[in-house]
Amino acid sequence: MSGKVAKYKPYTILGRAAKILNQHRVIYVDVLEPGVIRGVVRGTNDRIYIVTINIRDAKASCTCPYYIFKGITCKHIIAVLLKYQSIVRRNLLHHFIRESRGHHFH
Ligand SMILES: [Zn+2]
Repeated sequence: MSGKVAKYKPYTILGRAAKILNQHRVIYVDVLEPGVIRGVVRGTNDRIYIVTINIRDAKASCTCPYYIFKGITCKHIIAVLLKYQSIVRRNLLHHFIRESRGHHFH
């Protein structure tokens, strides 16, 4: 044992979360109640992890060992957050496009 403690690397976590997103491994995202997001992520080992994010308190949890044993924000939490963001953005975009269709430009 080297006794080295792995440092928390936010950019690594972000990169890994983006990879999860690109591989479509965030299989479910929903709003449990206003301000609370629930997400389901398929891990590389095909295990299923449940993520809960409270936007108001800026608090999140995950059922993966990384979060449970270290209590650190894991890639699953960030991946669910990114997925949620993209859904909100897409819905807003569709909303505005629908709205503008009702208008006639001459
Ligand atoms: Zn996790």
